[in-house]
Amino acid sequence: FNTERFGQHILKNPLVAQSIVDKANLRPTDRVLEVGPGTGNLTVRILEKAKHVTAVEMDPRMAAELTKRVQGKPEQRKLDIMIGDFVKADLPYFDVCISNTPYQISSPLIFKLLSHRPLPRICILMFQREFALRLVAQPGSALWSRLSANVQLYAEVDHVMKVGKNNFRPAPNVESSVVRVVPRDPPPPVKFEEFDGLTRIIFSRRNKTVHAGFMAKGVLEMLEGNYRTWCAEQNKIVEDDLDMKAQVEKVLTETVNSDNRAAKMDVNDLLKLLSAFHDSGIHFA
Ligand code: SAM
Repeated sequence: FNTERFGQHILKNPLVAQSIVDKANLRPTDRVLEVGPGTGNLTVRILEKAKHVTAVEMDPRMAAELTKRVQGKPEQRKLDIMIGDFVKADLPYFDVCISNTPYQISSPLIFKLLSHRPLPRICILMFQREFALRLVAQPGSALWSRLSANVQLYAEVDHVMKVGKNNFRPAPNVESSVVRVVPRDPPPPVKFEEFDGLTRIIFSRRNKTVHAGFMAKGVLEMLEGNYRTWCAEQNKIVEDDLDMKAQVEKVLTETVNSDNRAAKMDVNDLLKLLSAFHDSGIHFA
């Protein structure tokens, strides 16, 4: 195990550790999931406030240190440590997730939490500053991206605090930020693969028009393939004069302003566009 590979930067500032835990507004009945507890600087503070903690830690040496830290104390029976990779782990029920994990797993982490059922009430997560700013970015701003749209489809995300690199040992090369993620419950009734397929196309030319994204190499061919599959499933005969370009352009002119840039489409605009495509049999996954 090596510090860089596993991102083992331990949070040393007790005030920061306490305020991260405080941001979760834990209730005495809460079951908490912690990802990457390390030596347990957040864990011991969570245990003070919650009913139960499951901590998923990949490094057995860290897990052993955490075990030692609670051994013989009343908190010991409230803590389960799962040794293994969070990305592959089978998660138990939890109300709240709190994590300061290595930044390599930022994306899988957030999407795994948002696809967990039942949905957690709230997640307090530390990320590299740039990633956090993309999560909270608003349409029209420089950082609004496929990641922002995909996450904001499922959750309300706020930036709650900046954490400088000197609060960690060893100090990482990057600045960090803590975000609060509140999943929309119930989640919007769209298939993620469809929404993600649409945002992949739209944000591939984020500073050009939405139309330009659809004209990029391979896109119309892919949509035509999906359309033929969909027709087969519906027992619908594919038109002899099928013209995918014209069909896509028809949906676009009826739904979005012709000069609309990807960078300005908000989640509702994207949902409206997706539903118009679906109405005309065009699918993205
Ligand atoms: N949470 C502690 C803190 O704030 O001091 C430790 C933070 S350290 C940045 C990240 C921790 O996540 C390390 O203990 C590392 O071993 C663990 N880790 C790394 N990759 C992991 C993975 N895929 N699944 C679970 N834990 C992981």
